[in-house]
Amino acid sequence: MPKDFSTIPVVVFLGHIDHGKTSLLEKILKKPLTSKEAGGITQHVGAHEIEFEGKKITFLDTPGHEAFNEMRSRGAKVADIAVLVVAANEGVKEQTKEAIKVIKSAKIPMLVAINKIDKEGANPEKTKAELSEAGVLIEEWGGDVPCVLTSAKTGEGIEDLLSMINLLAEVSEIKKPLKEPTEGFVIESFLDPKRGASAVVIVERGILKKGDIIGTETSFGKVRILENPEFSAKKEAIPGEAAIIVGFRDLPVVGEKFFVFKDEESAQEYVKKKKEKVIFPKRDKEIKIVLKADTQGSLEVLEKILAKIEEKEALVEGGFKTLGVRVIKRGVGEVTDLDVKFADEEDAEIFAFRVSATEPAKSLSFSLRKKIHFFETIYEMTEKTRKILLSLKEKKKIRHKLATMQVLVVFKTQKRGPKLYRQIVGGKVLEGEAKKSFLDIERKGEIFEGGKIIEMQKQKREIEKAKAGEEIGILYEGKTKIKLDDKLILWEEKEI
Ligand code: GDP
Repeated sequence: MPKDFSTIPVVVFLGHIDHGKTSLLEKILKKPLTSKEAGGITQHVGAHEIEFEGKKITFLDTPGHEAFNEMRSRGAKVADIAVLVVAANEGVKEQTKEAIKVIKSAKIPMLVAINKIDKEGANPEKTKAELSEAGVLIEEWGGDVPCVLTSAKTGEGIEDLLSMINLLAEVSEIKKPLKEPTEGFVIESFLDPKRGASAVVIVERGILKKGDIIGTETSFGKVRILENPEFSAKKEAIPGEAAIIVGFRDLPVVGEKFFVFKDEESAQEYVKKKKEKVIFPKRDKEIKIVLKADTQGSLEVLEKILAKIEEKEALVEGGFKTLGVRVIKRGVGEVTDLDVKFADEEDAEIFAFRVSATEPAKSLSFSLRKKIHFFETIYEMTEKTRKILLSLKEKKKIRHKLATMQVLVVFKTQKRGPKLYRQIVGGKVLEGEAKKSFLDIERKGEIFEGGKIIEMQKQKREIEKAKAGEEIGILYEGKTKIKLDDKLILWEEKEI
């Protein structure tokens, strides 16, 4: 019976920084993860293929959590198996928890590598307990997540890890159809000075062949050269495999899905359809952006991503305001002095994606104190955008009730203005803790706007605070005249 499926798993390492994701991959590949030479330039390929016990495994270089989610949000499955790396000497950390969330939302099987077991202070048992607290129940603890102990330094457990990946791939029945349509996603793209626009892709289904017409949302072309991640030529790539493709007309954008088309016309049609103008939704508060990028393709993808970023600002009175961005000027190429001038006049931010700035632009940026934000990755750009949006949020103040006080005597009342009174009032703290603060007045179930306490005394001595039950005197200044039997509500403002 002919084989209908590929079972090659795509595996990704996720976990807290410095817990050993890169080191584990290097140990598996038996070489350092430096970038490779391609046509005279050093190029980061992003994928690696190995064979273990007769089975092929494809590893992705650790993408950040955000990059991983971003690719998923564009429809790519990205990985079939996730290895959650946790250092045994540090245990579960913040990014470990994030990684767990990411893996769970991707709904892919995971296994845990408790790494750095050679290190002093390594405590795998404690790490296992922390994992269970974080919602990852390993097999030994009655759950279904396999767990291996590893050291990327000594190599201990690396073979167990690989066996476990093979086993997990088998039990999770990874089956990727070899049947058309052929599709996958882009994990890297770069301009090879000799060969032109190149991309590294992962095939998700179908068989990608040399000569195929391919297209993404932003670019199309013909697969002129097809290679494995080691730059060796090959005729076809099956699902689960990584391939270097040369032949795109324009650089495709990382994270995009690619499809094989029957001819150039339909590929071109697809790109055109996807190139519709980006619509920025109207928000209550917006930051304006002047966007410069390396290619037309990047520009379009970046705009689409920026249009989707939204923050909400809760209002004290209930409801919320929406905050977002709007690209008011865009272009391919370096940031020029005209861009800086325009951004300054429009009070816009300048975003430069994989492009630099001209010398006049740099000096103008310096003299106008108009910062140019440079980005190499979409992640950096979205993070910065969020930060800027968050800084737009006003610090909100809410009223926090401190105490109530029963007025027992009004000693003195002075009129200080058409609607301003100064009084000395005595009373008893009913609840809470009184201090020099604002106050409102409750009278027969109605609340009147008061003012503030300027001084507070007990038995003629100035005090800072008074507890429930204490009898005190206050010097008050406010809009409403306090009367005998009023109840005072003391409050202060708190920032949220
Ligand atoms: P990543 O940020 O998760 O990719 O972590 P790295 O692989 O860059 O590792 C961070 C540091 O921990 C490096 O200095 C590694 O040499 C070290 N390291 C990684 N794995 C081990 C291990 O198993 N044992 C020891 N002793 N050190 C390790």
